[in-house]
Amino acid sequence: MSEERERVEERALVEVAIPAPLRRAFTYAVPEALRGRVEIGSRVAVPFARRKVPGFVVGLDAKAPEGVRVLSIAGLLDEAPVFPAELATFLTEAASYYLHPIGEVLRSAAPALDRDAVARLKASGFLSRAKDLKTAARVKIDRVKTWRRVPEVAPPSRLSAKQREILAVLDAREKVSEPELLTLVHASRATLGGLAKKGLIALELADAPRDPFFETHVARDTPPTLLEEQRVAVDAINGAQREGKGGTFLLHGVTGSGKTEVYLHAITEARANGRGALLLVPEIALTPQLVGRFRARFGDDIAVLHSGLTEREWTRMWHVLRSGEVTLAVGARSAIFAPIARLGLVVVDEEHDGSYKQEEGFRYHGRDLAVLRAHRAGAVCILGSATPSLESHQMAESGRYHRLVLARRANDKPLPPVEIVDLSRIGAGPTRDPLISLPLHRALERCLGGGHQAVLFLNRRGFAPSVRCQSCERLQRCPACSVSLTEHRRAGSLRCHYCDYAQPLGTACQECGSLELVTIGLGTEKLEDTIAAGFPGARVARLDRDVATGQGVEAVLERVRRREVDVLVGTQMVTKGHDLPGVTLVGVLLADQSLAFPDFRAAERTFQLLTQVAGRAGRADAPGEVVLQTFQPHDPAILAAKDHSYAAFVRSEMQSRKDAGYPPFGRLAAVRIDAAEERVSESTAALLAAVASGTALVRTGRVDVLGPAPAPIERVRGRYRHRFLLKSSERRALRAVALAVLGRIEDGIGVARASVDIDPVNML
Ligand code: ADP
Ligand code: ZN
Ligand code: ZN
Repeated sequence: MSEERERVEERALVEVAIPAPLRRAFTYAVPEALRGRVEIGSRVAVPFARRKVPGFVVGLDAKAPEGVRVLSIAGLLDEAPVFPAELATFLTEAASYYLHPIGEVLRSAAPALDRDAVARLKASGFLSRAKDLKTAARVKIDRVKTWRRVPEVAPPSRLSAKQREILAVLDAREKVSEPELLTLVHASRATLGGLAKKGLIALELADAPRDPFFETHVARDTPPTLLEEQRVAVDAINGAQREGKGGTFLLHGVTGSGKTEVYLHAITEARANGRGALLLVPEIALTPQLVGRFRARFGDDIAVLHSGLTEREWTRMWHVLRSGEVTLAVGARSAIFAPIARLGLVVVDEEHDGSYKQEEGFRYHGRDLAVLRAHRAGAVCILGSATPSLESHQMAESGRYHRLVLARRANDKPLPPVEIVDLSRIGAGPTRDPLISLPLHRALERCLGGGHQAVLFLNRRGFAPSVRCQSCERLQRCPACSVSLTEHRRAGSLRCHYCDYAQPLGTACQECGSLELVTIGLGTEKLEDTIAAGFPGARVARLDRDVATGQGVEAVLERVRRREVDVLVGTQMVTKGHDLPGVTLVGVLLADQSLAFPDFRAAERTFQLLTQVAGRAGRADAPGEVVLQTFQPHDPAILAAKDHSYAAFVRSEMQSRKDAGYPPFGRLAAVRIDAAEERVSESTAALLAAVASGTALVRTGRVDVLGPAPAPIERVRGRYRHRFLLKSSERRALRAVALAVLGRIEDGIGVARASVDIDPVNML
């Protein structure tokens, strides 16, 4: 074989990720007919374990592994690679960082593409020869037919009743989709056609699917003149964008300081430079207002990636982003996988929010991946928050992120004063509920008396968090989980918040069969009733998972904005960045709940929650006030929140993190084990912890093993849970020990299940 020939052979080997729980890609040869057509990100069909499976090309110029016969790719599934090379490379790196199978990472990034690939394979429609490429099936794009009135044309006198009805509907609304119009007026397509012929109505073929985020019309806005602090931030960010060297900015702006305006200006710059932009938000369902502001600035060419999209809509979004037809995407954590063409900017709003962490399957952190992806794409990354995570704070301290500060509210109104009520000394007000103290009661009276609105935050949904038997004292518990059942009075049941278990109200005591059960404590449902009874004139609404899923959230918030609600009661859903101008009073019913979590981040989360919810008060003209009830009035996190002092919080918390070697000073990996039998879970945990402890890195003290121990919630869905933590200040050392544990898990651990979670967030 000539030397040249050999080189060609070598180049023709590629790495393919296949949908299997394997932490590696496989080497395949590219057949003659497909040379030059197979690129990074291409979908291919490959022989694997005597079957043909779909795969994604993640590496070119592979070397043949020793002593293995390299098989050939059987076919190509699309004309062009479905993943842009930038994204495919990023996902490979993410898979490696989180020690997760690359095939599954690609699948979580684009589940629809994966299913579609399987379907194509089944139909044997893959392209084995170059000349077949032209016939490759393209993803069919839905076209939505929308009708609108042609305003200049006056209706003639002779029209049928149906036709008049259609005109009336279209006169009242800007546009109506054809299916909706036909159902509304029970008309046929022919009737519509008749009106169109007369020139009275016109059909528009729109690519955009109907989408809850685009249902209402939004008028375009004009960008406001930036305030000084915003100007400084925008100049720094946009300067970096123009230089094209990337960089990460930590935008630390107090609530209401105008961070969103900074994002908007940065995105404008990215678009002007012909680059794409991505905005991540903690929960897309909670942010229709934010999406509205983006539509007002940029129009409707925005891909809003949310869980309500059908597979076809999602696929369509994928293609318009991939092609660069749409250059701005907004979504929750998984939007970090959006195939934005020429990515120039990644924004993570509320970067401290725990919901950026994916807690099952591919356990990635959306914020951390955002920084990585931006870095690899040469894009600028903005992490925005009023309460930056200590991880991001530390990165700014060390100079790896650039810190930008917005210290004042955009309207120059002060942050609201916070009054602390010590619940161990101050009793109930007129409602007699110990969680509605006299000072809170009086503050509510003042607020409502002045014609303002109040938000009451209680982090417990349901009517009452637990139910006790009066004769035997037993708390009613979930049969499958080690937690007590919550009473949901409106739904007429006791429910478990960790699994789907529910039993009807009136079920006898699990222990003694008595029917005399009493509720203990206060949930949002009961709070709603108590406030309604204690303040008879007040209109009360509730915002929590039970009343508000998806668009329900916006409906409730819209009622608050329209002043149809005086008191909004809710769980941490009310703390998210909503702009509710009429709210002057924020009451925190029990600040201690999040402090009590067995989690080293409990203080941080408490400070974040309190600061965010306090930020809802006094955003418009009338001054705000916050009443914060607690049994621990001297806790540093609570005192820092009272003073709106991030600096004070950081001072108190960083030292204890440092002493304990916890993030941001050390790194963690959690190993979680569960099994149907307690002793199996326990012994497997002991086995895996012994594997970790047996590594040289643990013996030399470079990595600590904490545990194993039963998880704080010992049993969930009928499975017992144990866990241990690996802790180290050295990333590589930690990774090596995690790999040893993972290797042992992959060798087989019987009936138990185990997983390794890199940079864990959830400690339960
Ligand atoms: P954050 O996201 O920091 O909580 P927002 O971006 O929601 O703050 O801004 C708070 C309010 O201030 C909004 O009503 C916004 O329209 C307004 N605002 C922001 N920047 C400006 C500006 N430069 N001029 C006038 N109003 C502004
Ligand atoms: Zn009993
Ligand atoms: Zn349960």
